Amino acid sequence: MLEAFRPEPFTNFQDEQNRAAFQAALKKVEEELGKDYPLIIGGERITTEQKIVSVNPSKKAEVVGRVSKADQALAEKAIQTAARTFEEWKRVPAEARARYLFKVAALLRRRKHEFSAWLVKEAGKSWVEADADTAEAIDFLEYYGRDMIRLAQPQELTRLPGEDNEAFYIPLGVGIVIPPWNFPLAIMCGMTVSSIVTGNTVVLKPASATPVIAYKFMELLEEAGLPAGVVNYLPGSGAEVGDYLVEHPQTRFITFTGSRDVGLRINELAAKRSDKQKWIKRVVAEMGGKNAVIVDKEADLEAAAQGIVVSAFGFSGQKCSAGSRAIVLEEVYDRVLELVVEKTKQLKVGDVSNPDVFTGPVIDEAAQNKILEYIEIGKQEGRLLVGGEKGSDEGFFVQPTIFADVDPNARIAQEEIFGPVVAFIKAKDFDHALEIANNTEYGLTGSVYSRNRFNLEKAREEFYVGNLYFNRKSTGAIVGVHPFGGFNMSGTNAKTGDQDYLLNFLLKKAVSEVL
Ligand code: GLU
Repeated sequence: MLEAFRPEPFTNFQDEQNRAAFQAALKKVEEELGKDYPLIIGGERITTEQKIVSVNPSKKAEVVGRVSKADQALAEKAIQTAARTFEEWKRVPAEARARYLFKVAALLRRRKHEFSAWLVKEAGKSWVEADADTAEAIDFLEYYGRDMIRLAQPQELTRLPGEDNEAFYIPLGVGIVIPPWNFPLAIMCGMTVSSIVTGNTVVLKPASATPVIAYKFMELLEEAGLPAGVVNYLPGSGAEVGDYLVEHPQTRFITFTGSRDVGLRINELAAKRSDKQKWIKRVVAEMGGKNAVIVDKEADLEAAAQGIVVSAFGFSGQKCSAGSRAIVLEEVYDRVLELVVEKTKQLKVGDVSNPDVFTGPVIDEAAQNKILEYIEIGKQEGRLLVGGEKGSDEGFFVQPTIFADVDPNARIAQEEIFGPVVAFIKAKDFDHALEIANNTEYGLTGSVYSRNRFNLEKAREEFYVGNLYFNRKSTGAIVGVHPFGGFNMSGTNAKTGDQDYLLNFLLKKAVSEVL
């Protein structure tokens, strides 16, 4: 008998023992840096000439690992293997499929700090962010496993006399999993295991910045005894193998998390029927955000300032849920700005191997350049108060940056920067604040700090986002608690960590027998 789902608790790093355990895990991972990793297709290890080199964003010179890189012939092999394995995997009962997930969760829980340490090294996550990423991966395993068992139960139908009716769920087929680098364990794991627990087989193309952590996860799947070929590990470039996988006639669905532009491209490619294709491909896409934190004139300003700082600068603003706009009512604007500036100046920026560092690096040089370009644009569009520069050249650092007095239609108030940059916008009243908040093409998360019940109720109705938070930060959705996914250009509103989510990967069949 299973226990009810309960989110995995976060580690308290104030506790000396926990700190020591995490240091030991970092040390273990440091000893393993720089190795080579093969592709895995149908359980077979394949080494290629070409490699993706994964580096530590805090320390550019440190190679995390070198990963073999697929070409189109290997992509074809991966799809054929997944298609063949599907014929067997789809017959494995749902409960048995779920049990693989519970086993993987147990294995991951036992090696929690080790996986988090890989996240520190490969993704540049602070200890706290890395720990939350690993906890969320465990949550997805525990949650989707239970949810598949629920969906495998007889489905409610209206009864007709003289007929025996039933409805049940069946899998789709071969899926392509294209996860992001910003939650390289949690979201990669969630996207993969939701696809397979529903009876599908997949080709997993890990993000090119974070392929090693995905390889480590593959090893866990193998350790749990998952049959070869259910998940095929295929690192490669989007241009060379990404499009090929998406366009393939045997691809039944694509599950993607990443930028708006790539999501739209996948949607477009997938919509085009190729020769011999028998189905309409499904696309599940989780894309960007330009999320706002609104501060009402009646609010706990201290809490609001703290919420803005954490939402904007946690993991260097590289979450699609990040709060990159602070929309503040004019009566309290100067005070909130002052508090946020004060708190931001206290943030420690640097190598995240140090537990006291709050803001680590950004993921790579391209990201750093793009963010610095936006900062230049921001200098024309607003008043630079803090930051505005890169940090030490040992890694890809960007200082937490605040622009004040930004126009709601300015580029830095409209475009997703995906870095530690926040734009302050002044609002005349609460209605104006909501109007500004809704005035982007996205609709992912939003926060409102207010003590005014009427305004909170208004926001509940009018603030057009998939995840709305009152008197708390805009990031950090918990599986099962805050079903996560947005509106408009933020994606297809497939709510991760929710009981609607697995339906994205299933078909429903009704059988009726006249007695
Ligand atoms: N689920 C994460 C959160 O609530 C964000 C996911 C993402 O950045 O893709 O902060």
